Amino acid sequence: MAHDATDILISGGGVAGLTAAAAFGAAGFRVTCVDPAPPVTSDTDAGADLRTTAFLQPSIPVLQAAGLWDRLEPFATPLQVMRIVDAGGAEPQARITRDFNSADISDQPFGWNLPNWLLRREMVARLADMPNVDFRPGTGFASMVPRESGAIVTLTDGSHIHTRMVVAADGRNSPVREALGIATRTTRYGQKALAFAVTHPIPHGNVSTEIHRSGGPFTLVPLPDRDGLPSSAVVWMERGPEAERLAGLPVPEFEAEMTLRSCGLFGPLTLATRRPLWPMISQIAARFHGPRTALIAEAAHVVPPIGAQGLNMSLSDLRVLLELASATPEQIGEPAMLTAYHRRRWPEVQARVAGIDLLNRASMLEPRPLRDLRAGALNALYSLAPVRKTLMRAGLGVR
Ligand SMILES: Cc1cc2nc3c(=O)[nH]c(=O)nc-3n(C[C@H](O)[C@H](O)[C@H](O)COP(=O)(O)OP(=O)(O)OC[C@H]3O[C@@H](n4cnc5c(N)ncnc54)[C@H](O)[C@@H]3O)c2cc1C
Repeated sequence: MAHDATDILISGGGVAGLTAAAAFGAAGFRVTCVDPAPPVTSDTDAGADLRTTAFLQPSIPVLQAAGLWDRLEPFATPLQVMRIVDAGGAEPQARITRDFNSADISDQPFGWNLPNWLLRREMVARLADMPNVDFRPGTGFASMVPRESGAIVTLTDGSHIHTRMVVAADGRNSPVREALGIATRTTRYGQKALAFAVTHPIPHGNVSTEIHRSGGPFTLVPLPDRDGLPSSAVVWMERGPEAERLAGLPVPEFEAEMTLRSCGLFGPLTLATRRPLWPMISQIAARFHGPRTALIAEAAHVVPPIGAQGLNMSLSDLRVLLELASATPEQIGEPAMLTAYHRRRWPEVQARVAGIDLLNRASMLEPRPLRDLRAGALNALYSLAPVRKTLMRAGLGVR
């Protein structure tokens, strides 16, 4: 039977899958990208992804090579300073504040923040300009049969496609990963994150602020002004039942609680969007490859949203995969290439998942002596310039 043929079949049109489609397309490969859920490209639609992504410096060349950065940069808010606040007393009060200024290590900001729904809008528009990329929203991956020279993938509309390599970018419950029987190691924290946008009277000054208190961090990341007022994206992590209580509060009461939790640093906060809940896990796949398949992004690894690592790790996956594919294009999807990908990514991802797990556990600490220890550790760490620089570089993934 004759099938459609492609070089790379990307399962998943989330931010990672769409970036991968643009990047492999720009590198000259024939790409098909499938996703059963059409992308939501406006922040007022009920299904809109209201998270934002802070792209750290090393992610920018990947977006440039994909032909995406020119489209995204006009909408991006630079992050010049990362401020860490410990508010561990009886009432949320800023006890210790430490600033990391990007100017200490680079003439560029740490990163640039963009709303996820806007990323999807611009990425879909970019794919529409690429004749060698076939984006099929509304159709998903159903099953696959790996062969010597490629894989036959069956899609949810019953059609088949022959591909030399499958890239699984289909999220934390990756159907491709499940179809290949690749196990995961998963840690559940019993926490949930509320992700939403706010406006506030006090400008953010391009400072990203992470306020730590037992239960989890409360992070404000700068956005462009909204309705003429300074605006920030908020990720508020709490233990599950508390997060659900907060999500169900009438808006005025919710606003009062979040203003208190923010230590009033930006004045009274006004809710500007819905406030969806995200369960917090960390997860790593036992291996990042299967027959004719590479796992990237949340299909390979999930971390709590601390230090803006999630999607930035995903773009590193993509950078390595692209390097290998471009070096030997005739060998894409072959065992040697996929094993090299796994070897270059898995140990580094494993170390980052472990580091973020530790930070998250420290951030949840409840008993007073431990909280004080956390405050003391923050103080000691951030007071030492060389340590700060090392930490900042590690956070950025700059070697
Ligand atoms: C609250 C919060 C804040 C965050 N903030 C940051 C940040 O500031 N910086 C950062 O780097 N990261 C951040 N992250 C992490 C980042 O958002 C994720 O890493 C990223 O969005 C995941 O992208 P993804 O494309 O891997 O997965 P998803 O966005 O989950 O995409 C997976 C896609 O696969 C599709 N799919 C499902 N089934 C199929 C199928 N059968 N066939 C094909 N496709 C399928 C789904 O429809 C979906 O579109 C944050 C995460 C959270 C929860």
